[in-house]
Amino acid sequence: MNKRNYGFETKLISQDRYIDSKTGAVNPPVYYSSTFHQGQFDSFGPFDYTRSGNPTRKVLEETIAELEGGVQGFAFASGMAAISSAFMLLSSGDHVIISEDVYGGTFRMVTKVLTKFQIQHTFVDMTDLDAVAGAFRPNTKVVYVETPSNPLLHITDIRGVVKLAKAHNCLVYIDNTFMTPLHQRPLELGADIVLHSATKFLAGHSDVVAGLAVVKDEKLADQLYYIQNSFGAVLGIPDCWALLRGMKTLSVRMKQSSESAQVIAEFLQNHPLVEEVFYPGLATHAGHEIHLGQATSAGAVLSFRLPNKVIAKTFVENLEIPVFAVSLGAVESILSYPATMSHAAMGQKEREKRGITDGLLRLSVGLENCEDLVADLAQALEIAERAVGAGTVAARTVGRFI
Ligand SMILES: *Cc1c(COP(=O)(O)O)cnc(C)c1O
Repeated sequence: MNKRNYGFETKLISQDRYIDSKTGAVNPPVYYSSTFHQGQFDSFGPFDYTRSGNPTRKVLEETIAELEGGVQGFAFASGMAAISSAFMLLSSGDHVIISEDVYGGTFRMVTKVLTKFQIQHTFVDMTDLDAVAGAFRPNTKVVYVETPSNPLLHITDIRGVVKLAKAHNCLVYIDNTFMTPLHQRPLELGADIVLHSATKFLAGHSDVVAGLAVVKDEKLADQLYYIQNSFGAVLGIPDCWALLRGMKTLSVRMKQSSESAQVIAEFLQNHPLVEEVFYPGLATHAGHEIHLGQATSAGAVLSFRLPNKVIAKTFVENLEIPVFAVSLGAVESILSYPATMSHAAMGQKEREKRGITDGLLRLSVGLENCEDLVADLAQALEIAERAVGAGTVAARTVGRFI
């Protein structure tokens, strides 16, 4: 076949990667095999043991590497396994600069686990490049960025951070979970490692926990492969298959959900009970321009602030469509309460310092009818408003923290 420079959607479906050469099956076989027979005494085949490599996992790893534009992909047992394995490239005495409103599990890993190995960290407001510039130390080795960040959708200028990091000889890791390679390709912007909780948009159906990493150059690929094989937090083979199946529809899912998210963000922004909406697709968002300069869509996740916990509770209890749960990036809309869900690992003081208050809710928009979603949010907000009017719920912001 004459290979053209195909578009992203065509790469997602690319059959020459999936077709089984032995049978013509259009999906990769699930190789349930921990070990591989070696036909010859002194010359071994490409696979020997599944922790080190497996043909089903290889299809997945090649797919994500192509989509992110890197040299090699790695599949891990979870997003945290991918992130933690990438941190294992560091040594005792090294220092990391990290987004202050990073995913709660990453916060826990950096503050509670890496510190046991004398790996130091500094949390910075990554939206402020001067603050980033001021955080470098002689032993800084990695700048770790989440953009958009979770849950406040802060935007980091990836090119700006890469420039600073390169001047200090540091690697840049980007957690690309919220955007996926459909909308943002950090390696093309100069980052060194892209990380994913593939549990979210890539798998897309709330049925798999998985992590992926992609690296830009061969040397780093060898180093991360060494960690993957040594630490052994690899993704199980049936999950590799399930993730591959989910990824084929990434583009249509993301586009539909992002379109609905924009409509919902605008609706919430105009609602009197909503104090603030955090969505990079809104022109009022502080990172709007920077985001559009490095990504092709604002994505499907938004957060918004209600005045207090009681109002948030009344609102959540009266919603009909979204599931109330942790996680994001699925076919069903998922509403989360970061204070006790994704960011429970962060103490209250740390949380409030980062603006994750008791009235904050995060919505991951799914594939339901958009008008139904807006109508559902509207009716639940109306009930919450009436409760405020009736005096059963305090109207004033309680414990609001900026
Ligand atoms: C969920 C998530 C993670 C952690 O991934 P798991 O698959 O749950 O281990 C990391 N980063 C972000 C941005 C996430 O949303």
